[in-house]
Order: sequence, then C-alpha cells, then structure tokens
Amino acid sequence: MSTIQRLLRCFRRVPAGRGLAATNSAAATGAQSRLASSNVPNSGGSAAPAVHRSPSPTSSTSSHSQTATLLNMAPRFCPTDANSFANTDEIRITHSHLSLAVDFDKRILEGSVTHTAKVVGKSVTEFVLDTSYLDIQQITLLGKEQEEGQTLKFELATRDEKFGSRLTIHFSEAVAAETVVQVCIKYATTDKCTALQWLTPSQTVGKKLPYLFSQCQAIHARSMVPISDTPGVKITYSADITGPANLRVLMSAVRTGEETVGDKKIFRFSQETSIPSYLIALAVGNLASIPIGPRSTVWSEPEVIEAAAWEFAGTEEFIATGESLLTPYDWGIYDLLVLPASFPYGGMENPCLTFVTPTLLAGDRSLVDVVAHEIAHSWFGNLVTTQNWEHFWLNEGFTVFLERKIVGRLQGQPVLEFDAIIGLKALTESVEHYDDIKRPEFTCLCPRLENEDPDEAFSSVPYEKGFNFLFYLEKELGGPAVFEPYLKAHVTKFAHKSINTNDFKTFLYEFYQDQEGKTAILNAVDWEAWFHKPGMPPVTNVFDDSLAKACQQLADEWDAARDQEKPNIDKSSWEQFSSSQKVMFLEKLLQKPSLPHSHLAHFAELYNMPAIQNAEIRFRWQWLCLQAAYTPIFSQVATFLGQVGRMKFVRVLYRALDKCGAEGKEVAKQTFLKNRSFYHPICAAMVAKDLGL
Ligand SMILES: [Zn+2]
Repeated sequence: MSTIQRLLRCFRRVPAGRGLAATNSAAATGAQSRLASSNVPNSGGSAAPAVHRSPSPTSSTSSHSQTATLLNMAPRFCPTDANSFANTDEIRITHSHLSLAVDFDKRILEGSVTHTAKVVGKSVTEFVLDTSYLDIQQITLLGKEQEEGQTLKFELATRDEKFGSRLTIHFSEAVAAETVVQVCIKYATTDKCTALQWLTPSQTVGKKLPYLFSQCQAIHARSMVPISDTPGVKITYSADITGPANLRVLMSAVRTGEETVGDKKIFRFSQETSIPSYLIALAVGNLASIPIGPRSTVWSEPEVIEAAAWEFAGTEEFIATGESLLTPYDWGIYDLLVLPASFPYGGMENPCLTFVTPTLLAGDRSLVDVVAHEIAHSWFGNLVTTQNWEHFWLNEGFTVFLERKIVGRLQGQPVLEFDAIIGLKALTESVEHYDDIKRPEFTCLCPRLENEDPDEAFSSVPYEKGFNFLFYLEKELGGPAVFEPYLKAHVTKFAHKSINTNDFKTFLYEFYQDQEGKTAILNAVDWEAWFHKPGMPPVTNVFDDSLAKACQQLADEWDAARDQEKPNIDKSSWEQFSSSQKVMFLEKLLQKPSLPHSHLAHFAELYNMPAIQNAEIRFRWQWLCLQAAYTPIFSQVATFLGQVGRMKFVRVLYRALDKCGAEGKEVAKQTFLKNRSFYHPICAAMVAKDLGL
C-alpha cells in the first residue's frame, strides 16, 4: 500500500518496545527555538535536554505511568480522560486551523493542522497528541522571527488497539508556563481512517458524483487530525478545505468564503464558539441548499432538497422553544445536512450543521422530533460538554430531557410522557443486552472506561437513565416551575466549559441551598445508586400512559378479530394516532401471532398503507406482512430496500424476506444483488452474511 511505503520513507523504525515505533529522523537538532511568545527562557541557544514528564498526582494511572514513561512502554493517559493520551494538564490547545485537500482518488485528506496552544502547568518539553492511522510527515514550531519555523522532533508510538498512537512532539527547549505556541503538523489520513466515509457515486442519490462525510464521536477525530482528542479540551477552529470544483464542502462551522482555482475550489470556515474535538465535522458532495428559517438552511443532494426543505420547515420553532427555556442560541446558524440514503446511522449534532439520516424525510413531518434532539444539543453537549466519556450522560441525558420539554411545549405533556415510555423500553433492552453479554457495568450512569473503547459502552443508558434521573429530580424538587430555572442556571454557569458529574451535583446543591426544604430533598437522593449501580434506575418513574394504552387497545382489537371474516374495525383510532403511536401499535401487533392474509389486505386498504412514506411505519408494516409470508407485499419491500440504507431497517427486512419460502428467498437475493453497491460497505457485508451470499 502506498500509505505503508510513505510511512517507511518518513520514519526510521526503532526496534525496542511498544512505546516507540517510529522516530522522525528529519528533525533538526540544536536549532534555535522560535516560539510565538517571547516568554521563553533563553537557554543560550542550545537545545534543552529531553525531560520526561512526571505523572500528575491526580492521574489514576500515575503509579505505573512514571515507570512506563521512562521506559517508553505503556504511555500515560490524559489526567482527566482515560481514553486520551494528551497532556492537557501541561499544554492546552485553544485554536486549530485545518488546511486540507480532499483527494477522492486516493481517498485521503492531506495538508496540515496548526494548533495554537498554551502552556498551563509548569514549563513543558513535550506536547502529546492523539492520532489514529495518520501519516505524520513533518512538525514545525512556528515563530515570529522566521516564516518557515523550526522543525521539531517527534515520536509516534506503536498503535494501541483502542486508543490509537500517541504522538509526542519534543520542544527543543523547555517552554515556560503561560507561553502560547503555534505548532504546525503536516500529515495525511490513510485508508484505515475510522472517521471518514468515502461514498462511491452509486451510493448517492444522484449516482454521478462521489461523497464524503465524517463522524468523529466518540474518539475518531484522532483519525482525521492529530489533536487532543478529549472532550475536556474545547477549541475554536478555522479551516480552508480544497475540493473538486463541482462539489461543495461543508463543515461544523460558519462558512466564511470560497474561491475557485482551476478545477478546484477552496472553502473557508470559522467556528468561533469553542467545541470539543469530536464536533469537528466535514462533508463533501453535490450539495444544494434552501433557506428554511432566519438562521437555518437545509443542505442535501439536489434530488431531495425540496422534500428536505418541506420536512424541516419547523426547525426555527424548535430553536425558539429551546431559547425560551434556556439561553439565546449561541452558534449563529443552525443548518441541517441530509446525508445520502446509504448513510447507515441516525444523526449527529455537529454544531452549525446537524447531520441527519434521509429516513427522516417522512413526507408528513412526523419524524422531525429527531431535529428537536439535535437542537437540544446546542446547549447540552455542544455548549456544556462532558469532561470525558464516563460522564456522557451530562450530554445525552440532559439533551433528551430538553428535547422532550421542547416537544412537550409544542405538542403537550402526554406526548412528552409517551416518548418517555418508548425511551424506557429502549433502556430495558439495553440493560438486558449488557446482562446477556456479561458487561452490566456499562449500564451505570457513570461507567468506568479505563482501558475501554467508549464505542463499546455506547447505548441508550446515558440517554434514558439520564433522562429518568432528571425527570425524577424535577418531580422531587417541585416540578418544572422550580426545576427549569435551575436548568437555565446550569447552562449559564457551565457554558463553554467541560464538566463532570461532581460539578453537576455541586452546582445543583448550590442552586437550591437558599430554598427552603430543597437541601433535605437532595440529601434523600440515592446518588450512589443513580451514578454507580448497574441496571434499571433505582426509582421507577410513573408516566402518563393514556397515549400508549390506545395503541395496545387497537392491537388487541385486531387480534380479537382474527376469526371474523372481515374485521369490523373503525379507522378513526388510526387516523387520530400520531406517527409514534402508529409505530407502537404496529410493534404491539408484531408481538402477536401473524394476522390472516385477508386481514392484512383489509388493513392495507383501511389505512391506505401503500401511500405511507414514513420509514418507521413503512418498515414495521412491511415486517408485519413478511412475518405472515404475505406475498403481495414483496414488491413494496423490494422498492423500499432500494431507497434506504439505514441498517436498522435493511437487515431486519432482508432477514424476514429470506424466511418467506423459496419465493421470498429469491426476491431477497435479487433485491440485494441489485442494490449491493448502493449500501454502505458495513451494511452490505452484514446483509450478505445474513443471506448466506
Ligand atoms: Zn444526542
């Protein structure tokens, strides 16, 4: 591979140990330090001897990391984040500038990142960053005196399977506390990059041009840029990205300009509100746009832009409701990017530019609650950020809580509580799953993630257990009128900061300390069980189930009518249902024995099922028919499978079709072979395995 060859050219191998796989041999030695600040001790022009960092006393790995550092064995981790190598207690990035070219032929990004960083501890000699599968080419300390800067020595450690390769940059002399330095790293991504998805034209709606998008959460930013890849550090960033002139580049930032140079185009961006590294995001494709509000534009391929603009027309209402509950929206613009149909996941709250799955284009605005969730992240997660992945619930639990408050304000309290019931079901499933795989510790609200890949611990627990905790606290403390002012104060206090669960709890006590009886209420909370006990929450919230009951009743009616020649069921309940209720009703039916074919035909006609565009409903209806081996549905399933690539739909339908006798098997096989190149490679591989192809 070309990447390996380049690595061999750039680095000489160091034989000993796990710690040092490669050392840059090009670094100049004894060169004068040219720092961006004059606040550097003059060491008489000679390079200071390398001094190894001693471990911070707060580091949980301090006892063995001192030895490890000295022997260049297992590296020390970031004192506030067990999933990062960065020495953020010594030197912290404040701003990063990305200057990258997008190469669709080689499927890489190539260029440089310039970090502006401040020494925060005592003087430092090393700057440690996270990387994963990056080709690091040259590192330069930029200075005021000479444009070209000073080349720095660096080491790229042997890859840790979970956390990538620690990049240690050596300053030629100790850099004093409070000094601001600018370090430029020339690098390229490689074909192993886990943050980037390169789509072929056939995986797009237009089928003519390629597409690229990134997904950095939780710890994949390090495979796109060498950086302090911990949410404990928040940075502003700017970028100039060069791509083919016939495509458009978007980022999680405000667009500040673009210029065409030959067959290339340079796009410029600026993110002036500080963000954690996992919120750096990039998308490149044939993108059109339509304004949908005073601060919102929707972006997608031209083929679906009209539908996207119609679907998300209510975006401003969500933002305004969030502002009325909390603080003014801090990010300038709120744009939405609808990804190609082969996007195998749900959505991502990249600031200024939420990424969403096209399966939200239901044609009836019924799935836009997902947008309420992503907008809620503008305050929780993006503005007030978890310090590390062990406190992820501070992002997601608070976000779900705000999302449901926004939905409740717009659609009523019963809808909020109905959504909470659906969420509780998801939480139960996650708890059962981790019990099954014997990892119940991941169901703690604050799981320990030392030596764990945060992706492994990802589930609905931080979302729904977090929501249940806040719902419980709100009720105990006296309801929304008492709790919402606290939420606002929490955002005001912690905006632009990274916090942990202890910060949250300390401030909660502080906020209520002068209100009579509240401290006693807080003292009665079983904090230990909520934070550190695995399994379902220690307190079971009771939710209004009026909307859920109606779903069960209608399912029971259909079940009871299975012996009637033609079921005598009124269509009014269905017509009054929200789309979430229709989903829950179909789920209840899926749990019952299959309905007779005559009843399915009647069902389709009564509720006009073929006309439904909502992917969640369409999927469950088709699944219900396939469970009964109802052949008239086959062609509709085949059509749907050629339109969506979201794994949660695709895999279930293929497996169900495959079980519908010889005819179903054949339809499954032919449909898959026809659409194989449309699906994301991960999805295609999974389905091929499911179908035994
Ligand atoms: Zn979220």
